[in-house]
Amino acid sequence: MHCHLRIPGFPEREDLATGSRAAAAGGFTTVVPHPNTRPVIDNPVVLRNLQEQIAKESLINVLPAASITVGQRGEELSPLSGLAACEVPLFSDDGQTVASAALMRRALQAARQLKIPICHHNQDKTLAAGGAMYAGDVATRLGIPGIPASSETVMAARDIILAKETDGHIHICHVCYAPTVELIRRAKQEGVHVTAEATAHHFTLTDAAVAERGAYAKINPPLGSQADVDAIKKGLQDGTIDAIITDHAPWTATEKDQDIRTAPFGLIGFETALSLVFSELVNPGVLTLSEAIAKMTINPSRILKGVSKGRLNVGADADLIIIDQEKKWVADPDHYQSKSRNCPYRGRRMQGKAVYVIVGGRIVVAP
Ligand SMILES: [Zn+2]
Repeated sequence: MHCHLRIPGFPEREDLATGSRAAAAGGFTTVVPHPNTRPVIDNPVVLRNLQEQIAKESLINVLPAASITVGQRGEELSPLSGLAACEVPLFSDDGQTVASAALMRRALQAARQLKIPICHHNQDKTLAAGGAMYAGDVATRLGIPGIPASSETVMAARDIILAKETDGHIHICHVCYAPTVELIRRAKQEGVHVTAEATAHHFTLTDAAVAERGAYAKINPPLGSQADVDAIKKGLQDGTIDAIITDHAPWTATEKDQDIRTAPFGLIGFETALSLVFSELVNPGVLTLSEAIAKMTINPSRILKGVSKGRLNVGADADLIIIDQEKKWVADPDHYQSKSRNCPYRGRRMQGKAVYVIVGGRIVVAP
C-alpha cells in the first residue's frame, strides 16, 4: 500500500515495466504508488492518464494514490471528491508534510465523507530540517546532522487529535519510532479511526546501518535505534501496526552515490521485503505466518478504499503467490528487476522467496 514507481516524470529511476516486474519478483500482485511524481497526481485528468498507461504497461495491479494537496505543496486541497470518483485507494502527500493543521482538518473531514483514508508522512519539517539521519549516538559519532524522533511523534499526535475530532480516517505512514507506536496504540484503544504501516527496513535495520552503508541506508524518516525496532515489532505483534509496506523508492546511482548529507532519502524494497518478513518476524516468532501474510494482503486491502484483495475464496481475484520458505539466496542488487540499485542489503543472506506469482489467473513469475 505504499511504494514509488516514479511514473510519470522520472523514468530514469523506474518505469512501469521495471517497477511492476520488480514488485512481481518480490511477490506483490497489487501495489499502490504514491503521487510524488511529475506532475503530481492531484487531479482527475493526470490520474486517468496514469491509469490508462498502467492498463497498457503493467504486469501487475497498480492502483495509484492521489495527493492530499495541489502539487503536494500543502497550500490548498486537491479536488478530493473528483479524484475519489476515479477510484483512488488513498490520499497521500508522501515525501511532504501537510504542515497546516487547518488544511489537514479539512482533508480529514472530506476523507470521512468519501470514506477514503488520508495517509500522512508524519514529519514536522521544523524539527527535521537539515537532518540526514536519526538523531542518536551514531549521528553524534559520525558528525552528521540528526532528525529527532519527536519530528514524527508530534505530527502523528496532531493528526490523531484531528482524526478524533473529525472522525476522519488517518493512516500513519511508515511508523519509525517507539513513542509514535505508543501514541497509535492508545488512540486505537480510544476508538480513533487510525491505522498504521511500517516498512520492512524499519523492523530490520537501525541507525548503525548508516555507519556501514552511508547514503544506501538513508531513508525518511530515518532508521532509528534498537528500541525503536523492538517497538515496531511489538506494534506489529499486538495489532497497533496494521500493514507492512516496502516504501520502494528508486533513485539512480548518480543521485544516490553522494555524501550522506546531500544524497536523497529512500531505498528500494520490493525484492527483499518478503524475505525480511520471514527472517525478522516469522522465523523468530514475532508474528505467525498467517499474521505476517495478513499484514501484506487482507489488512492493506481493508484500509484502502474500494480494494477487494487478499482473499482466497471462490469468486475472489486469482492473485496468488507460492512461496518457498526455505529458498536461500543472497541479496544482489545487480540482479534485481528494478531499474535502481539503492538497496542496503547487498551481500545479506536471505531466506524465503515467492517462486510463482499469479495475477488475475495469469502466471507472471515462475522458476
Ligand atoms: Zn514518506
